[in-house]
Parts: sequence; structure tokens; C-alpha cells
Amino acid sequence: MQQIIIHVDMDAFFASVEIRDDPSLRGKPLIIGSLPNERGVVATCSYEARRFGVHSAMNIKEAYRRCPGGIFMHPNFYKYKAVSDQLHEIWNTYASASQTIALDEAYLDVTATAKDWEGARLIAHTIKQRTLNELGLTCSVGVAYSKTAAKTASEENKPDGYFEILTPADFVDLIIDRDVRVLYTVGAKTAEKLHRAGFHTVRDLRERPEDAVRMLGKHGRWLVQLAFGRDDRKVTPYRPEDAKTIGREVTFQHDVSDYGLLRDVLILLAFCVEHRAKRVGLTGRGVTLKLTYADMKQITRSRIISQTDSAVTIFEETSKLLEQVEHRPVRLIGAGLYNLSGEDEERQLTFDDLSGDVVPSCDDLRQSLLDGLQVRYGLDFAGNLEKLYHYEVLHKTVEYLRRFPKQ
Ligand SMILES: [Mg+2]
Repeated sequence: MQQIIIHVDMDAFFASVEIRDDPSLRGKPLIIGSLPNERGVVATCSYEARRFGVHSAMNIKEAYRRCPGGIFMHPNFYKYKAVSDQLHEIWNTYASASQTIALDEAYLDVTATAKDWEGARLIAHTIKQRTLNELGLTCSVGVAYSKTAAKTASEENKPDGYFEILTPADFVDLIIDRDVRVLYTVGAKTAEKLHRAGFHTVRDLRERPEDAVRMLGKHGRWLVQLAFGRDDRKVTPYRPEDAKTIGREVTFQHDVSDYGLLRDVLILLAFCVEHRAKRVGLTGRGVTLKLTYADMKQITRSRIISQTDSAVTIFEETSKLLEQVEHRPVRLIGAGLYNLSGEDEERQLTFDDLSGDVVPSCDDLRQSLLDGLQVRYGLDFAGNLEKLYHYEVLHKTVEYLRRFPKQ
């Protein structure tokens, strides 16, 4: 059956929320992310900043070089998450299924609710109007016969845009002479590969499909399908258990050579991962440690463990991994759980369960990890541990540990 799909995407979301809440920022180049004197990247920027060539994921130093007069701000994820919940609540009213892609972006299956293109147009404009009236923010909306076409459509007239692509032929007409990067899943690396092999536009892919498949295999076959406008993927609601990992990482403002400190940072990360896992009701059967060294070399190390969501286990296992890696200055450290399963699946009995040995209870071990942080740094979480999950609090705490004078 013919699908009718809407893709909604907020315009410069984080920046727009900040401008809405502080009108003095309006019309100015606003850059949300790290500050110029810190390490990090641009999360989002206002359209005024984009005119200077600043964009998402750009290194913050480069953003400052291009736009030294910009206003730089840290993101306020609590606020964006609250706005996002309100947005998705409005959007979901109009769909029989919705797939959240990001805080500010979703696919809506409106096949049943819209019934025809006229109905879809009405829904799209109602969504734009309500988003503006109720939340004071603009979005761009694409209406189309497929997910790829809907996403392409919402990009077409940004900001505050509306565009529709009703047939595969319309989609092909629109993109055939554009760079292959227009196709969903073509990132910088694939684009470079394709360009080198003489595939510059979508037309090139249509003319030499076999070459593309030979070069890129399954991904090539998918891109050729897209080049002909074919994509019958369904809108599938996100389920937490579809996530492959639950992880948390931090970048230090200065490289860290003290592995005792890194071990303490792992305690904080382990509690963050536990918080997230418990919130979505998942446990993992593997842990990972991720490090980026000062020279940007990145490594990950993993271990299989018995099923858990406990910060104690996550910390113990990742700190063992930390002991085994090459000890050089570190720029970024991360900890994660993988091989996830939901809480309804039965927990497998482990050897520890069966052996009946008296081991200290998990609560005691948790407390001793926290006591350690209190002794070494004077940190007292006093029931506020869940705040650590907040991006800013975690970074501030980690920086506090890093600067704490060691005896
Ligand atoms: Mg967006």
C-alpha cells in the first residue's frame, strides 16, 4: 500500500530555544556547544552564525576563527529535553506510528490518519502552526511517499519550510543532478569514495549501478535503490532495547596522565551508565572502555560479563580494562554497557548466584566507591547522584576531580 510519511525537523533547535527565551539574542550569531577556550564542538548554531560558515559538529576553535564576534553558550539539555517532550506530544497526535530520530526530529506515519495527500498537507500545516503557537518555535516539514523522500523534502525549504514529494519520479527529478551526498546514508567518507570512482551525481549512480554495487556491496545496492526513488522502509517506533550500547564519555579540558584519576572518573561514568540502564529497563552482558589518547588515537576494549545494570560491576570491569591498556596521556574516556536486553527477559543465573558464597552486598560496594570519592576529593553526592547524568554536571564534576590538588 502507498505510504504517506511526514518528516518534521526543528530549525536550529537548541539555538532557537535559547533565542525564544532571551529575545536579546535574536538576529545574532549564536553558537551552542563548547566555549572557545574549551575543547569540543558546535552542537547547533543560529542561521546568522551559519552565514559565517559555522555548522554543527565543527571544532569550536574553528567556529571561533570564522565567527569571533559570535555569542558562545553551553547547551542546556534539561531545557531542550522538556521542549522536545512537548513537541513529540503534539506531533504524535497526528500519526499512527512515530519514530523519534532526535530530540528535534521525527518520522510520522500518517497513512491512516491523513487518508490522502490533501489530508497530509492539512496535518503538516497544523503541525507547523501548533509548534509555533504553542511553543514559539519553527520547524520544517516534508510530506512524501517514503522516509528518504520525506527527509529530503523537510531539508528543501529550511527554515520554516514545507515541501512535498509525492512520487518516486518527483524525487528522482529533484535529486538526479545533485551530488551523491544528497542520498540518505552517504556521509563524508562514502561520498569521497564515490567521487574518486567517478560517481559525482545521482545520475552517475543510475548509469553505472553494477560498478557501485561492486565497490560498496550491500550499501551500494541500497544507494542504487534510492537513486531510483525506491524506499519502502516503515516508520518503526524506537524501542530502548534497539540501542546497541548505553555509554557515557567525557573529554578533558587538559590531557590526563594520572591513571588513578582516570579510575575515579570511571566511577562517575559507571553511575551514569547505571542510571540510564535502569531508567530504560535494560541490562547488559558486556562492558566497554573507550579511550582517546592525546595524539587522537582511539581504542576500545570490551569484556563479556554476567548480565548486569550495576554501577559497581561496570566500574570494576572497566577499571580492569584500564589497567591493561597502554598508559599514555588521555584526552577522552568513556564507559558503556552492550549486548543489551529488556527486563522482561529472564535474568540468567550466574555462578555467584549458585555458589551461595557470602559476598559483600552491592549496596555496600556502591557506598564504598562513593566514600572513596569523598575521601580523595571531598565530594559528597548525598542522594544527588542522579544529577550526574546531566551532561553539564558530569563535565563540571570531572573537571573538579582533574584540578583537585593531589597529596
Ligand atoms: Mg533540526
